[in-house]
Parts: sequence; C-alpha cells; structure tokens
Amino acid sequence: MVRSLIYVLLFLDKPSGKAERLLSKKNMLKAVLFDMDGVLYDSMGNHAVAWVQSMKKFGINMTADDAYATEGARGVDTIRYMVKQQQGRDITEEESQLMYDEKTRIFHSMPEAPIMPGILSLMEQIHAAGITIGVVTGSGQRPLINRILRDFGRFVSIDNITTAYDVKKGKPNPDPYLMGLRKAGNLQPSEAMVVENAPLGIRAGVAAGIYTIAVNTGPLDDQILLNAGANILFPTMTALSDAWPNLSEGQAPDR
Ligand code: CA
Repeated sequence: MVRSLIYVLLFLDKPSGKAERLLSKKNMLKAVLFDMDGVLYDSMGNHAVAWVQSMKKFGINMTADDAYATEGARGVDTIRYMVKQQQGRDITEEESQLMYDEKTRIFHSMPEAPIMPGILSLMEQIHAAGITIGVVTGSGQRPLINRILRDFGRFVSIDNITTAYDVKKGKPNPDPYLMGLRKAGNLQPSEAMVVENAPLGIRAGVAAGIYTIAVNTGPLDDQILLNAGANILFPTMTALSDAWPNLSEGQAPDR
C-alpha cells in the first residue's frame, strides 16, 4: 500500500518536480546502468537462501533479512564484516573468498532465477533510442556474466558489464558505477541513469552523482530505498517500462 501511494504521489501530483527532472534527464541521456540481481533477474530469493545456508556451515548467523540488507555489496566484503562482528577476528580476502565460493556453489545448485518481468521491454525501448545499456553488479561469477550475455546480449556487450572484479571497493562506494560510466564511453554522471533495487546499490549510484531510479522488487519498505537517496521509485520493472515511452515523448506519465 505504501509502495503504490508513493508511486501515485510522484506521478499524479502534477507538475511533479521529480518527474520533470526525470524528463529533463532523458534529453541528455547516453547510458542506463542496470544492477543485476533483483533488477535483471528475480534472483534475490535464491541468493537469500544460499547466503543463509552457506554461512551456517561456517558458524555465521545470517538471516534472509540480512541478505536483503547487504544486497549489492561485494560478497567477500559482507563475509569479512560478519566474521568480524560475530567472531571478532579479521580474515583475509582469500579466506573470505573460500566461504563465498560455498555460497556461490549453493546458489548455482538451485533452479535458475527467472528474468525480471518488464526488463526486456524496457531494454528494447532504451536500445531503440540509441542509448547504451550497461550492467553493474557486485557479483563476479563467470556463469552469471555468461547468462547476461545469453539473455540480454542483443542489448548489452561484454565491454559494458562491470563486476566485483573490476573494482576494489564495491557498493555502496561509487566505484562500480564510476567504472560503468567509464566503460560506457567515459561519460559524465549527468549523462547516465542507474536502475537499482537495493539500498547499498542506490547509495552507490547516488555517490557517483548519477540520477538513480529505485525499483522495489523485494520485501524492503519503499522508505528504505528512498532514504538511501533514490531520485524516484517505481513499484515494479513493468511499471518503469510502461512509463518509459511517455517520458520519451516529453510527457509526464499519467499514473
Ligand atoms: Ca540488486
């Protein structure tokens, strides 16, 4: 309910300052940078299960809520933080990577997460307008990169995929999105938009100085995403895709 209320407030209360800023942004838009999990794929449920099960094996208590709250950060960073918090010790990146490998193993043993409804029609429109599409993810597993190319290869080239291994400091630092801008052709922050579903990812987009669209595809309250600094919020990817043509015609969406 809260989610749809915010959406209505943003678009029915005309002229909406936020919608107008979004419109003016689109005129100079050269790239849209998408997060992966929870944006391209409805994959966060699987990730949460894999996090809980894998960390339990190492004596780390991680809940599904923890998985959503830390979504977007580099997995190795999340693990080092939790080990420090719960066991009071510092572990090396290598040890953290071994634990993360177990999380990855469990994730890949689960059924493949579906493509997020609405994302293909949105990318189709962006691509048709000659705007570059990039993917910026805290994940680094090669199979996931291959899956992006398989499912979205019509729209995304491998040169425009930024992973955990392209940057030292992951989300919520701005580095991943700054790298995304560089890969998209050394663009300025004002020439791009970010599409994110998680608080840390939104903070990363905002810290990079990029207009950041939140799409709330998970269980968190809308307000958490808005508090992270999102410029605008949509309830689903389909809603963003549906709003896109109206925006490109220079009209505020009617709902
Ligand atoms: Ca995400």
